[in-house]
Amino acid sequence: MQIIVLGGGIGGLAISALLARQGKDVILVEKNNFIDDHGAGIQISSNAQKVLYELGILDLFWKVADEPSLINIREIKSFKKLFTVPIAEFSNNVFNGGYHHIHRQDLIDLLLLRAKELGVTIFQNEKINRINETKEKVFLYSESGKSYEGNMLIAADGLNSVSRKYLFPDHQPKFQNLSAWRTCIKFDKNIPDVFVDPNLFISKNLHLVTYPIRDNSILNCVLIAKDSSVRNESWKQAATFTDIAPLLNNTNQAVKKIFLQNKIINKWGLFEHKLKKWHSKRIVMIGDAAHPMLPFMSQGASASLEDSYALSVFLENYIDLPDTFSKFQRFRYRRVEEIQKISSRNRYAFHQSTFLRKFIFTILRLMPSILIHRLKRVYNYDIVSQIKN
Ligand SMILES: Cc1cc2nc3c(=O)[nH]c(=O)nc-3n(C[C@H](O)[C@H](O)[C@H](O)COP(=O)(O)OP(=O)(O)OC[C@H]3O[C@@H](n4cnc5c(N)ncnc54)[C@H](O)[C@@H]3O)c2cc1C
Repeated sequence: MQIIVLGGGIGGLAISALLARQGKDVILVEKNNFIDDHGAGIQISSNAQKVLYELGILDLFWKVADEPSLINIREIKSFKKLFTVPIAEFSNNVFNGGYHHIHRQDLIDLLLLRAKELGVTIFQNEKINRINETKEKVFLYSESGKSYEGNMLIAADGLNSVSRKYLFPDHQPKFQNLSAWRTCIKFDKNIPDVFVDPNLFISKNLHLVTYPIRDNSILNCVLIAKDSSVRNESWKQAATFTDIAPLLNNTNQAVKKIFLQNKIINKWGLFEHKLKKWHSKRIVMIGDAAHPMLPFMSQGASASLEDSYALSVFLENYIDLPDTFSKFQRFRYRRVEEIQKISSRNRYAFHQSTFLRKFIFTILRLMPSILIHRLKRVYNYDIVSQIKN
């Protein structure tokens, strides 16, 4: 049984390693060379760390990731603190696991090393532009003229999945009239102290997330605001400070200063995808290919790790492939939907008028259990025990 995994991002590398560990024959095909300077910081919460543990790389992950002790929620104009989430304390006492920030590239490096150690055959710089599924096989054709043949395809080819286009050519994602602008800045003495801890700065129709990564040497910044000018869905449309300057008019001067530090700003248009099916008879999609996430809970990478673990368990001793894929989807669909719902509620809370924001955060200060309950539903999820039951 030859398994092909398309896409060597977070989900693709994880599923390849997990299946190779079971002794399965896995080929992974990736369009890049696993070096991507554009990928910025990502959040990996306790639910995903359970998968890193299963992969045998959690200790290495802790060595390179940053563990924040708190996250401040602030007004973006005055920087006034509205609320502080004691995230390390919550992690230790409530979520049964860690909460970390990491440079996406560093996580890719760890997963790639593990996949290689476990014997995954890797083809890089191979962009797949055509897929064909027959009764017995799946064929992949690359831009360079090569072809790959397997009995099943696990499509982990991300946001702009070519597999999704092949399986569901009529699927149309819905633009949310929101975009994210991402940049990474060298942390030096020009960066005000307020940025040393992770922050969520909020204001009407706009918010900014900042946190340090790589041992406080880089400040990861993601600005999310209303926008109507997006043509296609991509992580890395080039943008400039001039593009975002009007959005920053009502923010603290320090925010402008931050975005002026680095000329490389990437724009990412936010789309909602509602796919009812994630698979055919021989092809199954995982991660962003199946269910791209809006970034209000920062769960894109974590959800693809959960998917990978779940699919690897379903495939361990499977008999009927389409039935296994359909069981996998049923198992994951509800969980992914729940994360999407919580994420949408955050969008509502972050982008309110000043009056409503004050009200929401006053309630949270009085009843932090509301927040704990919401975070627990996402972070306390244990994929390993859930799948056993
Ligand atoms: C450049 C980039 C920057 C990102 N930045 C952030 C960020 O700042 N914050 C955040 O939270 N999340 C970010 N993400 C997304 C986050 O990493 C994903 O939500 C998460 O990794 C989901 O995992 P995935 O495996 O489904 O997809 P991804 O990790 O996106 O992996 C998909 C992989 O498939 C490969 N691929 C795609 N099409 C083809 C093809 N036709 N042929 C061969 N290979 C193909 C891609 O090169 C990529 O390696 C970024 C992703 C990318 C690719």
